[in-house]
Amino acid sequence: MTSVVLSIGSNLGDRMARLQSVLDGLGPAVRAVSPVYETDAWGGVEQGPFLNAVLIADDPALDGQGWLRRGQELEQAAGRVRGQRWGPRTLDVDLIACYDGDVELSSRTDGLTLPHPLAHLRAFVLIPWLTVDPDATLTVAGESRPVQRLLGEIDQAERDGVRPTDLALTLQTESTRD
Ligand code: ATP
Ligand code: CA
Ligand code: CA
Repeated sequence: MTSVVLSIGSNLGDRMARLQSVLDGLGPAVRAVSPVYETDAWGGVEQGPFLNAVLIADDPALDGQGWLRRGQELEQAAGRVRGQRWGPRTLDVDLIACYDGDVELSSRTDGLTLPHPLAHLRAFVLIPWLTVDPDATLTVAGESRPVQRLLGEIDQAERDGVRPTDLALTLQTESTRD
């Protein structure tokens, strides 16, 4: 059984609809979804704020590459156009960490780095992640670290920039599925 922590973000068009498309696309594979946060864009490109959330999904048939492909299919379905690095996008789906049972997987191929190499520096990833898994850990520089601690090492100003909203994504459960 593999499970994955996905960070999803949108800052173009109907941002909530783009985020919801990921939950709808993955269906009952999604086990948990965080609240939605609004965050100013990261990386120095002038652009509108993002809506961000984190979700946890599992699917015994998918490995890391499989989750990457699923994420890219969802981005394409949301009309993602590849432009400027860290620029505006209708939908971004990043794999933060992937697990085979309890074992955290690592990957260093061209197309897939696991865990995500910048996740530990991003409050917009760590804050929502902790809401769905307060005991989450992440391997940074070969060491497994509590996500709560990693968040504490990020500047207060950046943490404050991850603003709660009253928007909520809808989790599709087995019972709500047609
Ligand atoms: P960042 O990864 O720093 O958040 P980004 O999301 O803007 O940047 P993209 O343009 O969406 O970057 O993706 C560039 C490439 O990153 C993708 O084509 C994908 O193959 C690769 N990639 C490597 N590791 C991962 C990962 N863990 N999750 C998602 N994509 C990854
Ligand atoms: Ca990203
Ligand atoms: Ca990405």
